This record gives sequence, C-alpha cells and structure tokens, in this order.
Amino acid sequence: MKLFVCQACGQVLYFENVRCEHCGRGLGYLPDRGTVSALEPLADGTFKALAAPDKPYKFCTNYPYGVCNWMLPANDGVGYCVACRHNHLIPDLTAPGNNLLWARIEAAKHRLFYSLLKLGLPLENRQDDPEHGLAFDFLADPPRAHAQAVMTGHDHGLITLALKEADDAMREKLRGEMGEPYRTLLGHLRHESGHYFCDRLIGGEQKKLAQFRDCFGDERADYAAALAKHYSEGAPAGWQNEFVSAYATAHPWEDFAETWAHYLHIVDTLETARAFGIKVSPRAARGELSAVVDFDSHNAESMTQLIDAWLPIAFAVNSLNRSMGQPDLYPFVLAPRTIEKLAFVHALTHRKAKAARKKAAA
Ligand SMILES: [Zn+2]
Ligand SMILES: [Zn+2]
Repeated sequence: MKLFVCQACGQVLYFENVRCEHCGRGLGYLPDRGTVSALEPLADGTFKALAAPDKPYKFCTNYPYGVCNWMLPANDGVGYCVACRHNHLIPDLTAPGNNLLWARIEAAKHRLFYSLLKLGLPLENRQDDPEHGLAFDFLADPPRAHAQAVMTGHDHGLITLALKEADDAMREKLRGEMGEPYRTLLGHLRHESGHYFCDRLIGGEQKKLAQFRDCFGDERADYAAALAKHYSEGAPAGWQNEFVSAYATAHPWEDFAETWAHYLHIVDTLETARAFGIKVSPRAARGELSAVVDFDSHNAESMTQLIDAWLPIAFAVNSLNRSMGQPDLYPFVLAPRTIEKLAFVHALTHRKAKAARKKAAA
C-alpha cells in the first residue's frame, strides 16, 4: 500500500482516512486515480477532488454506513464504488454489532480491491456476468441452534465470508483449533479471490491448464474427498518443502489459492516498505540479507526480483515483532518449490493484466 498525502496541507494519510487530522478536510479514495484525495464540497452535494479537479465526484452508497470511503464520478449512474458493486448479500444491520463486523470486513475487502485494481486484473460483477461474475456474501450464522453454520468459501465467482471471522476472539479460537500460524480477514479474502482468478485466468485454456497441473497437480482429483482426507489426516510429512501452508496440501485448487494469497501479501507489503523507504542491511550478515525496494512491486520484472527483496524484509520485520513479544508478521518459510509456484502466479497476473490494459486503451 502507498502512503498518501493531503493535497491541501501535506499531512500524511492512511488509505482508510475520511478526514485530514491536520486541516480537517474531508477525504475520499479515487480508485480511478489510485489515490486518496482531499475534498471541497460543491453546492449540488458532490465534491471537487483536489487530486482530480477536472470532474466532480460523489461518495459510494455505502459511505453513510462507515464502511467505504471510495468515490465515483458524480455522473455515474451506479451508486456503488468499484469495490462495493461486487457485494451480493451483507449482514442484517438491525442486529446489534453487525455493522462493526461488516466494517472490518469491508476494510479488508477494500485493501484486496486496491491490489486487484493495481494489478490490472479483470473484474466483472454479477451485472456484467450473471453466472460467473465476482460477488460477495458476508453472512452471520442463522440464530437457530443446530442450523448449518456459514462456511467461508468460493463457488463459481461467489465468495462467502462468515461474519464471525470479523470477531477477533472467534477468529483467534478458530486459528488455534485449525493449527494455523496466520488467520486474518485480509488473508481469507485474498485466498478466496485466488479461487475466482484461477477460474477466470486459466479456465479451460489448455496450455495454461497444463502448466497449472505441472505446478500444482491435477485439479480433477475429487475435491470433497481430498478435503475430508486433509481434515482427518492432516498434511503429509515434509510438506514445507513443497507447499506454502499445511492447508495448501489439501487439493491443487487450495494450493493455488494459498499461493495466490501469498503473492498478494508480498506485493502489497513490499509496496508499503517502499513507501516508507525501508531498507535492511544487517551488519552481522556481512552483506547478505540486505534489501531495498526500489521498484514498483505491482509491476515487478520477475518473481525473483520480488523474492530478493521480500526474504530479507520479512526476516527483519519478524525479528522486530519478536522483540515486542508478538508472533511473526510472516510466519511462513518459502521453499524453492513454493517460489516456483509464486512465479506461476506472477506470470499469470501479468499476462492478463497486460491484455486488459491493452483492451482498455483500444
Ligand atoms: Zn489536510
Ligand atoms: Zn464502496
């Protein structure tokens, strides 16, 4: 994530800010410009964005709920921003506490969309493609006892996220029970988006599918049986040499989705490191484990360029966290085989992104 600056006063801003702490101006995120902008209210209820003063903007329909600070051109017939136009079902906001849980999910979802847009990935919603468009259901468990609990997952473009994942105590309990080193809302959404983009970017394309199978295995393996086996037997010994996480061993689709999520973790965190000018050069390592992020991580030349920066920075930040008695920021080890899988994702995102950019320009 970039660091943003108030165009009116120079104050440094976060992505989520809705008001400048220094000059008090309202702020909104302009996804078409990739920036947070200070705003000037206009007489008709729209806004002049200081970052793009040529046309008026309006807030997303979800703004009054405190869950979205994204904007769209004032003359846009659609009321929802490019991130919220993918929502299908949201939780019942008359139930106490649901608005807060939904707001946490939206904060993570907007960060996901920031990355997807920055990578130039194709984003159809259910209006654009009623059968396969990307859509989200954020659902609370039904109140009846013994009713089926909401399962987080992906089904033909529809991502379901259980609302309870936004409850920190509940998510931490699940993390412990599942033996996971890392469980976050952003991680869930990045993972589930991987299932969507696996379908969307590979689909039935034979050449790509063959490369997918070389990398992740044969996805025609019975999915339900594979998951049942994973939950009863766990990951095979030595999984760390080939997989980014224990869950990635369950099925090739899960391996891809886990790898995809890690690609987004790495690209976004490196952009943040670059925004802060973070450079690591540990004296004890005599030139090894040094890194500086002097490139745009969303347009990296290769996976090698990303990994060369990522490993030293992740090691440094893990060490900082340990100094504070916190768990590692990035509690994973990337084996050479896992890096090959990340390289597949890198190639996949960049190929389609280039094609999409070309199409948009035509
Ligand atoms: Zn300001
Ligand atoms: Zn929105």
